[in-house]
Parts: sequence; structure tokens; C-alpha cells
Amino acid sequence: MPDRRFVRTLTLAFLAACLCYADTNPVVQQPAPEPPDAWQDAFWTLPIVRFFFPVFDFTGGVPPTETAVPAEPPPPLPGCSVAPLDPIEDPEALQLEAGAGDGAAVDVSGMVPAAARALGRFQSTVAAAGGTIVLKSAYRPAAYQRHLQDVWYKWMFELRDDQDPACQDLRAQVQDEFAGHRLLETQHPVTISDHTRGLAFDAAVDLPNRARLGRRHVTLDSLARLAGLQRPALAADPVHFKYVGQVSLVPVRWAGRRPAPRRHRRASAFSA
Ligand SMILES: [Zn+2]
Repeated sequence: MPDRRFVRTLTLAFLAACLCYADTNPVVQQPAPEPPDAWQDAFWTLPIVRFFFPVFDFTGGVPPTETAVPAEPPPPLPGCSVAPLDPIEDPEALQLEAGAGDGAAVDVSGMVPAAARALGRFQSTVAAAGGTIVLKSAYRPAAYQRHLQDVWYKWMFELRDDQDPACQDLRAQVQDEFAGHRLLETQHPVTISDHTRGLAFDAAVDLPNRARLGRRHVTLDSLARLAGLQRPALAADPVHFKYVGQVSLVPVRWAGRRPAPRRHRRASAFSA
């Protein structure tokens, strides 16, 4: 029986060998077909391809493996921290503002009648003495005075030394207003002034040297006193004339040389 045992052993060995072969050489599993884009993804990640990204214009934008990051807009410039000038709404103030700077909108009609007559007398006597007078300002509505204050404070305390780029447009605007209204840095507009009360005017007066009225030497202030006016702040505000209500008597000698009707006619033009 050794032969049969040998054959059986050989058969078992053969079967075992077949099983071992089967375990160590399984049926090769076919990989699942790659999705259509997988090879493209692999392609874009190749170093050589990434090297040439900047060279070629890839229609469609960013390579597939890159996360598309939308370009952020530049951060907006922060606005100017200084508030703009308050708008003018009062019609009279608007009219004055429209003519600011060229003297076209000097409001004499808003002056109290006695002050307006004093202005007329003053203009007549300046002309009689060979001088010239240019009115810069007269009556100012309260709203207009508030605007002047607004400009003055905005310029002096907020914008004059402001270097913020976002504020330069507003700074230029307020600077123009400051100059156009002939404001002075040394003098802030008061809330209630002789102008809002209709008692004063600002005027640039030019008198010849050794001006005379008849035979009498006159000065700017003597002419003002003749008309019932004073300059209360001669040094700080030399153009400001205020009606003080006491008309100096016109010298008889001068009155005789200057026909009264002319003075009255000119004065009436400025009466309320
Ligand atoms: Zn004034």
C-alpha cells in the first residue's frame, strides 16, 4: 500500500500547491474606471505643469486643484471725520451767500432806517472829500451770521491743520468760504452782532491824503462821526462802522458848499 499512500500524498501536495497558488495569485481586481476629470487633476498637479502656470492663460481661470479666491476690493478710504458745513436754508442768507465775495449781495434794506440813512450820509461825505467807498457787508440775517460762525469755527478748530487726505476736499471748500467772506483768524463772528441788528456795515474807504471837506481837513473817523457812525474796534476790525445815533452837525460852511438835495437823493437810495 505504500504506492497508494504515495499517490494520495502526491495528490494532496498537488492540491495544496494549487490552493497556495490560488491564495498568492488572486484574480487581479480591475480598478474602477477613473472619473473623467481625475487624470486632469493629476495633470494640473504635476510640478512641470504648475511651473508654467504664469506663462499660459488658462481659460476658465484657476487650475482645477486651486481653490478659487475672489479678488477682494481695496478697502475704502475712511471718510473725513470732520462734518461738512451746515447747509444754508434761509432764503435771505442764501441770497447773500450767492453774492459773497463780489459784494453784489450787500443787504442794506435790512438795516434799521436810521442806520441806513447814516450810511447814505457817510457815502455822500466820503465822495465830497474826494474818496471812494466800497461796501462789503451790511445787514446779515441771523442764519447768515450762523453760517459765518460755522465757517470760522470749522476752519480754525477742525480743518486748518488737518492733513488727512480724506478731508482735503472739505478743507479746500471751507478755506474758500473763509477767504470769500473775508473772515479774519483773529476775529470770530459773534452770534448777535451789530450786523444782525441792522446797525452796522463793513466798508473799505479810501480817502486822499489831506482830504478836505470845504476848508476843513477831515479824516475817515471825522467823516464817520459827521454821519453818526463810529468804528468801535478800530484796530481789530477797521472796516466795521456802527451807527451810534448821534449825528454830528454838518458844518454850516460845508453844508453851504454842497447842495443838500444831492445828499438826500443819495441817502434815500439806502433807506429801508
Ligand atoms: Zn462788521
